Amino acid sequence: MPASTVTKPLASVPQVARNILTPIPGPKSRELMQEHHQYVSAGVGALMPVFADSASGATITDVDGNRFIDLAAGIAVTGVGNAAPQVVSAVQQEVAKLTHTNFATTPYEGYVRVCRKLAEHIPGQWEKKSVLLNSGAEAVENAVKIARKFTGRPAIVVMDNSFHGRTNLTMAMTTKASPYKLGFGPFAPDVYSVPFSYPLRDEYGENGAEAAQRTIDKIKLLVGHESVAAIIAEPIQGEGGFVVPAPGFLKTLNTWAHQHGILYVSDEIQTGFCRTGRWFASEYSDLDADLVTTAKALGGGLPISAVTGRAEIMDSVQPGGIGGTYGGNPVSCAAALASVTLMESEDLPQRALHIGELIQDRLAPLEQEVAEVAQVRGLGAMQAIEFVHSGDERPNGEIVSRILKLTAQSGLILLNCGIHGNVVRLLPPLVITDEELTEALDVLIAAIKTASQETAAL
Ligand SMILES: *Cc1c(COP(=O)(O)O)cnc(C)c1O
Repeated sequence: MPASTVTKPLASVPQVARNILTPIPGPKSRELMQEHHQYVSAGVGALMPVFADSASGATITDVDGNRFIDLAAGIAVTGVGNAAPQVVSAVQQEVAKLTHTNFATTPYEGYVRVCRKLAEHIPGQWEKKSVLLNSGAEAVENAVKIARKFTGRPAIVVMDNSFHGRTNLTMAMTTKASPYKLGFGPFAPDVYSVPFSYPLRDEYGENGAEAAQRTIDKIKLLVGHESVAAIIAEPIQGEGGFVVPAPGFLKTLNTWAHQHGILYVSDEIQTGFCRTGRWFASEYSDLDADLVTTAKALGGGLPISAVTGRAEIMDSVQPGGIGGTYGGNPVSCAAALASVTLMESEDLPQRALHIGELIQDRLAPLEQEVAEVAQVRGLGAMQAIEFVHSGDERPNGEIVSRILKLTAQSGLILLNCGIHGNVVRLLPPLVITDEELTEALDVLIAAIKTASQETAAL
C-alpha cells in the first residue's frame, strides 16, 4: 500500500532515507515473483516479496523504485555497506586481471594476504594458519574434519538451538528441525547437542559457570569426554535468537575442554568481523579458541569463508585433504582484503558499539512500555527483541510476523530469528548513518506499538 495508507502511526514517520512509492510489493516485483514461483524451487524461501535492483551503503532500492533502509545486511554480510566503492573497484580490477586458477594448482597472492589478515585479527597470541572456502557451512565442515584428524577422536558436541548450516554434516549440527532438517535425514552420526546458556529462559540466569557445569555434566553422561574431538559454539547464537550466554559460560566450557584434550571451536560466521563491537565476539569472553570459522562479513558481499586455527592443528592435515575448486577464489579474496581494510581504516568495531548504543537507547524502554516485549539484548550492532504473549513467557511468533509485515510495507528490510520465530533481529550495515538508523527505529517502534495494540484489541 502507498505510504499514505499504511497504518497511521507508521505513516507519521517522515520518509527521508526511505522512499516508498508503490504498494509493497510493487507491480514489477509482483511480475517477477510469478516467474520466481514458476522457475525457482519452492524450497528456497522468500521472506520479503520485493526484488532488489540496486543498493548503496545501508539502503536497497527495488525494481519499482522503492528505497528501503536495510537492517539485515544480507544476513550480516554487507557490514562495510552494500556496493562499497572500495570493494567494487577491487573486485572489478581482480576479475579482469585473474578470474580463477584454483589455489592448489597455481597459487596467487590474494589468498595468502587474506590468511595473513585472518592471523592478525583472530584472537590468540599464537601462530595461526587458515584454509579458505566458499560458504559458512563449508567452513564448519572443514573445522570438524581438522578437529577429528588432529585429535583422532570422533565425537562433535554442539549447543542446543545452534545453527551451523544446511549441508549434511552441518544439518546434524543444527538443532531446529523445521525448516532445516525435516525430511532430509539420515544425518551424520557422532554429533551431540547439549544445553547452551539462555539467561532469559533457563534457571541459571546470569550464572554462566553453573550453566556450564550442567553442560559439562551432560557431555560426560551423553558422550564421554574421551571421545570428544571438539566442542563448537557460536559466541552469540544467531539464527537461534541472538542469545547472549551468561558471563563465564563459554570460558568455563573452553577451559574444561582444554583440560580434556578437546578442541574448542568458535563459530564466528555471524558474529565476526566487527559486528558486535569487537573484531570477534569471542573477545568478550576471553576465549582461547583452537579453531575459528568465519564467512558472512569477511567478503563484503562476495562468497568466501575460512577456518583459522593454531598452526599445529591446521598443519595436521595431509596435503590435498582440505580445500576445493573455488575456495579462496581471487575475486573473493580481493573483496575480502578491501573489506577488512575498510574495517580497519573506518574503525568499524567502534562504529558497531555506537550503533548498539543508539539501538539500546531507543528500544530498551519497550521492555516496560510494551507487554509483549520480553527483552532487548545484544552486543554492538547485533541486537534483538524477543517477544512473548502478554502476561506470560510463551514465545510469540505471531506478533513478530505482524511487525515484519508492517515494517516491510513501511520501507524496512528486517529479519526474524529464534527457534519459535519470536525474535526480531537488527543487523544493519555498520556504515548506516545515525539519521538512517533513527528513521528505521522510529518505524520499527511504531510498528511494534501498532502490532501490540492490534493484538490487545483481538
Ligand atoms: C550463516 C551461518 C552459517 C552457515 O553459513 P552459510 O554461508 O549459509 O553456509 C554457519 N554458522 C553460523 C553461526 C551462521 O550464522
